[in-house]
Amino acid sequence: MVVLVVLAKVFASFFLGLLSYWFVGQLIDRNWSSASKGFDTTLEKLVIPKSKFTREVLIWCHEYIRSSDVEIPSLKLNYRPSQRCLGNYNSARNEIVIHIKNIRTVRELCEVILHEYHHSRQKATGLDENYDRMGEKYGYVNNPFEVEARRVAKMNVDQCLRDIFGDLTLHN
Ligand SMILES: [Zn+2]
Repeated sequence: MVVLVVLAKVFASFFLGLLSYWFVGQLIDRNWSSASKGFDTTLEKLVIPKSKFTREVLIWCHEYIRSSDVEIPSLKLNYRPSQRCLGNYNSARNEIVIHIKNIRTVRELCEVILHEYHHSRQKATGLDENYDRMGEKYGYVNNPFEVEARRVAKMNVDQCLRDIFGDLTLHN
């Protein structure tokens, strides 16, 4: 009897797995170019508008990596190609600016938003008071605020993309 129950459970989960595989596939094909489903795909292949995607990522951040009560930052896309940086966070305005022309892939875009979002959390841990001083002492790359923002972005980028697009994209 126990064996039967276990077998039934195995079949049920297999069937549900197939169903969700199909369902997620449908979703992705609608929202994403079916030619390339990897997260390292270039931004041009993102079929949903970039503004919608960036908004989704920002909302995900606020839901899952909010570490303080700082308000959700606003997010602006800058389409001018001149700037060299990928994104920046303006603490006074609590605003993230993404320099979209400098970003190549969907993963990179997601990681930049996670990074800048985390800077907004750092207001609670002394960003405004200490960022410049730390920068002078350690340089831009080794500034502890930057090190932490990079770490948080790297740690969460896959989960964020999986949640937005579904598991399937990782395996193609
Ligand atoms: Zn940064």
